[in-house]
Amino acid sequence: MAVPGIFLDTCAQNRHNIPMQVKKPVNVRRREVLERIRSQVDQYKSPLVQYMRENGDVLHCGNTEVYLASSFGFCDGVKRAIEIAHAACDMFAGKRIWLIGEIIHNPVVNARLDAMGLRHLPFRTNDPAYDALTEEDVVIIPAFGVPVALRQRLESKGVQLVDSTCGNVMKVWTRVRSYAKQGITSVIHGKAKHEESMATASHSQGDDGLGNYIVIFSEAEAQMLVDYLLGRGDKATFIAHFAKACSPDFDPDVHLAEIGMANQTTMLKSETAHIQAMLRDAVTQRDGNDARFHVFDTICGATQDRQNALFELLEKPLDAMFIIGGYNSSNTTHLAHIAARRLPTFFVKSADCLLNLHEIMAYDLTAKEERLIPLPPAVADTEHTWRIGLTAGASCPDNVIEEVLRRIAALRGFELPAVTL
Ligand code: SF4
Repeated sequence: MAVPGIFLDTCAQNRHNIPMQVKKPVNVRRREVLERIRSQVDQYKSPLVQYMRENGDVLHCGNTEVYLASSFGFCDGVKRAIEIAHAACDMFAGKRIWLIGEIIHNPVVNARLDAMGLRHLPFRTNDPAYDALTEEDVVIIPAFGVPVALRQRLESKGVQLVDSTCGNVMKVWTRVRSYAKQGITSVIHGKAKHEESMATASHSQGDDGLGNYIVIFSEAEAQMLVDYLLGRGDKATFIAHFAKACSPDFDPDVHLAEIGMANQTTMLKSETAHIQAMLRDAVTQRDGNDARFHVFDTICGATQDRQNALFELLEKPLDAMFIIGGYNSSNTTHLAHIAARRLPTFFVKSADCLLNLHEIMAYDLTAKEERLIPLPPAVADTEHTWRIGLTAGASCPDNVIEEVLRRIAALRGFELPAVTL
């Protein structure tokens, strides 16, 4: 019998089944630590971008006009997670420090942390890599959080946890846990394989692990749910389709009786709103009222602000849009989709993607891979004005944005001066 708060560890390091006290996550954001790592986190800042922020979000460089969205780049949750990772490296120097998956989805930030000696653990609860952990190890939980079972596994190893889970993600967990308590099935609008949705799905099983969930990614999948709610779906097809995106033993005939929606914090606001309306209408049609439909919009403020700012920016007469960020970043990908519907859009991860005035390495949203894309002929015509809009996802640092700006200006024949503030 396990004592609450105490786990029996049966790994090689604890063969005698000595009860192991779970260590509380440590707060590494102490004033003296933050002072020591200040220069490290300041590397992600940019005087040029700050100058633009304070001067109307616009930059004229020769015949190139660059317009920035009024909200872009690092959100508070990402800033905090990065600070935590750097602080953990400082505070536990000399120990083995592990990171589960990526701290956030940005290749530049992740490369910098790797260079500091962070080791990686896969974002998979049952991975054998966790067997080798000991009480001497330090493990950083990324901004997306981790599934309940993975956290319990870490606690059972007695490792020192450093938790960078964003508060907005934890708010979603509170909501789905409350659904589980009331016997309501969580319908999570998100990517079933995204770290945050995996963690949220585990929380929607509640304290007793008996709660249910289903993760839907698109309006097409929402339509499958609608069809099933209205008695038009085929059970075997439905179960096969969502096999990897629902709780164990999910039975749509039973578990769709009362549903509560939540979403991955970084989804596209308009799509989530539409899916909510589709499901509410379906439940109303089925039951005669919407009493067994619940909803709580859990898109975070930072994601909404960046999407709203992009819609505002797209009202300007622009020739093209640049979206900067990691290709596996959910909120950045949504920004790219929004822009691509309106005008030529180039989704790049760093300044290196800008090869010359004719071609660019950019992420192809349809092929879902980075590839060489031809630039419109107007780009090479440096005698004429080229107006571009620029924004970046919540995990993209300002220094990367500055590098892209400088590269665009240089290709167009203009050397941007150094900026100091
Ligand atoms: S995008 Fe939102 S949920 Fe994600 S880290 Fe930033 S504030 Fe938190």
